[in-house]
Amino acid sequence: MRIIGLTGGIGSGKSTVSNYLTQKGFAIIDADKIAREIVEPESETLFKLSECFGSNILNSDGSLNRRALAAIAFSSEEQKKKLDDIMLQEIIRIINEKIEYYHTTGEMLIFIDAPLLFEAGLDQQSHEIWVVDAEDELRIERVIRRDGSSREEVLSRMRKQMSREEQYKRADHVLNNSATAEALYAQIDKLLDMK
Ligand code: ADP
Repeated sequence: MRIIGLTGGIGSGKSTVSNYLTQKGFAIIDADKIAREIVEPESETLFKLSECFGSNILNSDGSLNRRALAAIAFSSEEQKKKLDDIMLQEIIRIINEKIEYYHTTGEMLIFIDAPLLFEAGLDQQSHEIWVVDAEDELRIERVIRRDGSSREEVLSRMRKQMSREEQYKRADHVLNNSATAEALYAQIDKLLDMK
């Protein structure tokens, strides 16, 4: 079974690539989805987070207050590291579980869609790395439109991510998403044809 790691900065188009691959019938392990699932109310990870950052990160119904968590966790490098340690460990464990599962189902090719592919060391498990990218200004506009975030919020998140140069160095293929979605799909089809 071949594993392709799919990554890129915020707003680059990872989900767009991932959705297209899903439509084509490929198995995708979605790290963001796992990250949401592991902090559902009553979960062990949510308990660990509230022990580490305080019960202020919980809403009154026991669900995670993402804004409150972000305010604390992004306040310093040290706090951010604590958050990453708790979250990444569990995300990686589940990703490995899913990889094992796909081994048993005889899947030939699977994708891991992970914004923190390199940071989490998941590139080590991938046979090939695809980085999705688009011009910064387009990424900013697209995220503002998608999430209703402010320009400053997007810029601040972009600054915290791995540089484009570093990502390109580690990529086997870079998908350019500065034009239309169709142009992006054509690049994916070409790479898939090479398989
Ligand atoms: P990521 O998952 O990397 O954060 P998304 O795939 O969610 O990025 O793309 C960010 C936003 O931009 C989404 O709303 C998506 O629909 C839109 N988008 C992605 N690619 C294009 C494109 N080529 N043209 C126009 N909008 C796009």
